[in-house]
Amino acid sequence: MLDVAIIGGGPAGLTAGLYATRGGLKNVTMFEKGMPGGQIMNSSEIENYPGVSQVMSGMDLMASWPEQCQRFGLKHEMVNVEKVSRNKNGTFTIHKDDGSTEDALSVIVGTGSTPKRAGFKGEAEFFGKGVSTCATCDGFFYKNKEVTVIGGGDTALEEAVYLAGICSKVYLVHRREEFRAAPSTVERAKNTENIEFVLNSKPDEVFGDMMGVQGIKVATPEGIRQLDTTGVFIFVGNDVNNGVLKDENGNFICDVTEWGEVVVDLKMKTSVDGLFATGDMRLDAPKQVVVAAGDGATAAIGAISYVMEHK
Ligand code: FAD
Ligand code: NAP
Repeated sequence: MLDVAIIGGGPAGLTAGLYATRGGLKNVTMFEKGMPGGQIMNSSEIENYPGVSQVMSGMDLMASWPEQCQRFGLKHEMVNVEKVSRNKNGTFTIHKDDGSTEDALSVIVGTGSTPKRAGFKGEAEFFGKGVSTCATCDGFFYKNKEVTVIGGGDTALEEAVYLAGICSKVYLVHRREEFRAAPSTVERAKNTENIEFVLNSKPDEVFGDMMGVQGIKVATPEGIRQLDTTGVFIFVGNDVNNGVLKDENGNFICDVTEWGEVVVDLKMKTSVDGLFATGDMRLDAPKQVVVAAGDGATAAIGAISYVMEHK
């Protein structure tokens, strides 16, 4: 029986592993389906992790995290977890996709979230080279430059307003006239002088060269319009990676919001005793490495108390 099973080896899972093992638990395993490090490994530049003053790639930032955890005894198993189930006696079972299972007293889940892609030409090719899904991460690279934002929901409009504070101009490209975003958010965006709305319009193709994006062609009612922005931000929704928390009938084993984010309290406790959720997958996540790491530490501290009480 594991003391704690950690699902996901991104910043949240790794930090949970570090705190759980360094905090004295002997039997902690992190189940990660790929290389530990999480989605930040796909980023070519990160410059907002506190204490790391030089700009570095996500891969470089995360390189030493697994080793630091292993030093305190964290075990790592490279496997895809299918689901977590709760047993009648309050323990949990981890079901792996190789058919094997493992029991644990407590579980910390940090499987992240995945921004949706809009699906236009050049989007995948230039992802990370001018095409981004994170304004907090990449907005600063376009200080005093023009950028394009795609989407008409709360995220797109909120991020457009955020970017308008950094960039010289923001083109907000949305495929309809009406917005999904809250009226007050739409109003705020409309009152922001340097946001131009390009409505009833869809991205057609993002283009560029070896250096990255040079512009985007947009299909408008008047024909193709070219926006010469080197930054293109896509906010067309987010998939929360919450599949491991569904039972065989597709029902969640703990409370989630209508958007699938896991409901947690300030200690990262879910509605199920002994089950914690962290990082991008939890309610109101700011989707930043530093926050995911903080969540992991918070959850591990809670899990240690839980294990001590129930062992
Ligand atoms: P993730 O990093 O998503 O990690 C989840 C892990 O769980 C993954 O490794 C995944 O393989 C694993 N996993 C998922 N499902 C399973 C399963 N069923 N079984 C086993 N393992 C599973 N943040 C910043 O602070 N600054 C930045 O500059 C920045 N730039 C970014 C640039 C890009 C291109 C991207 C994509 C993100 C960026 N972010 C940035 C956001 C940051 O990466 C995330 O907020 C952070 O990684 C979230 O950490 P997490 O541990 O919650 O989830
Ligand atoms: P969302 O509400 O699903 O909006 C996605 C937007 O992207 C929609 O405007 C949609 O257009 C557009 N879109 C989808 N696919 C597209 C494509 N392939 N090409 C071009 N455009 C595309 O997503 P979200 O904005 O990330 O919000 C998710 C949820 O979180 C929402 O319920 C939202 O209210 C909530 N949220 C709340 C807050 C807040 O309360 N402050 C902040 C952020 C998010 P259509 O409208 O035409 O479908």
